[in-house]
Amino acid sequence: MFEPVLLKSVDIRSGHLLSTYEAGGGYQALAKALRDYTPDEVIELVKQSNLRGRGGAGFPTGMKWSFVPKQSGKPTYLCCNADEGEPGTFKDRIIMERDPHQLIEGLAISAYAIGAETAYVYIRGEYVTAIRRLEQAIAEASAAGYLGARILGSAFNFTIHIHCGAGAYICGEETAMLESLEGKRAQPRLKPPFPAVAGLYASPTVINNVETLICVPHIVVRGAEWFRGIGPDKSPGPKLYCLSGQVRKPGLYELPMGIQLRELVEEHAGGPLPGRKVKAVIPGGVSAPVIPERGLDVGMDFDSLAAAGTMLGSAGVIVIDDTTCMVKVATRIVEFFHHESCGKCTPCREGLNWAVKVLRRIEAGEGTPGDLEQLEKLCKGIFGNTFCALGDGAAMGLRAALAHFRDEFVAHIEERKCPYH
Ligand code: NAD
Repeated sequence: MFEPVLLKSVDIRSGHLLSTYEAGGGYQALAKALRDYTPDEVIELVKQSNLRGRGGAGFPTGMKWSFVPKQSGKPTYLCCNADEGEPGTFKDRIIMERDPHQLIEGLAISAYAIGAETAYVYIRGEYVTAIRRLEQAIAEASAAGYLGARILGSAFNFTIHIHCGAGAYICGEETAMLESLEGKRAQPRLKPPFPAVAGLYASPTVINNVETLICVPHIVVRGAEWFRGIGPDKSPGPKLYCLSGQVRKPGLYELPMGIQLRELVEEHAGGPLPGRKVKAVIPGGVSAPVIPERGLDVGMDFDSLAAAGTMLGSAGVIVIDDTTCMVKVATRIVEFFHHESCGKCTPCREGLNWAVKVLRRIEAGEGTPGDLEQLEKLCKGIFGNTFCALGDGAAMGLRAALAHFRDEFVAHIEERKCPYH
């Protein structure tokens, strides 16, 4: 039986308070890191754990930290990506609302490791309760000496600032987030240089997701081997999965990385609604290509899902049953990306606009025989030709829907109506 670690306090009513966090062993990891480890030793520990970024890309966290130059002559910044804009994703919100000190402790240890004295938490503006709870928690932690100058009697100084987004999905893209923090219009930057070398105000900057950061205190207390012992060796650890869509028990689940997608949907989330069948699952937020039901025997980890032609992404698992039209699903998803495109790259701006027009036409029963080839051509034109992953996510998702559910698209065109209505 798997014991939750990251979610262990989220159902406690007072879980957001410092007294509850301390009673559960909170801030002992920070004390241990400052007492027993040098910053480089913390980086080495995180490297040994094989922790990979939980925002979606799965980049090795310890390696990212080690890219920060030691003597840049500039301040180093830590940014927490709490923008969580990916549809179907709500894990970071629950952590910030119900257990914000876990994030503060993760931020403090991570900042110590990379030599940062300042962190920015970029939270999406819609997360009103999360913002309020995190502000209260920062005030409590500062008053108790876990933040501020000479933390716990050490030479380490550390301050956290909260920055609220204003509803744009693109602000979750790390370099657009840096532009937004600098007060500019949020548009992605060309990489390289990566933020670890030239990020906020052209200074070395590490950007980590909320879930990535909250793993760090547990690695410090329980060790790298404990972490690596959960799930696949190359992609280990406890993992938060957001279950939504047409399923009996939607919600946030903490289970080992690498759990079978079928077990997650059919056992933990209770399977489809009465009298229905699962038709497809989107495993990692709408940026992740859809998997038809026959593909559910796959591990929920970065490498297994990549080998299956999709991705773990933000682990926003969206279940779609046999009453749902896949043309409608694909149209809503591409409409979302079109609406959120920042407009900087022509293939994304123009290509998604065009794809939405074609998809709406097919959905309305007004499609023409060449439309599917047109959509495939548009995907080809967008994929790999943009500054950031937004256009890629839209193109990959549309391609997968066209490949796995082509018969539904053809039926709309040939019958000149939606077979589901
Ligand atoms: P990426 O692979 O380009 O980068 C991942 C991280 O590794 C970044 O921090 C990047 O700076 C760093 N990195 C990569 N190569 C590096 C190098 N050579 N040197 C130094 N640092 C390096 O991916 P991305 O564009 O940051 O993220 C895409 C992912 O975001 C998608 O997989 C998607 O699932 C996810 N996503 C998540 C949400 C959410 O709400 N959580 C929203 C949208 C997208």
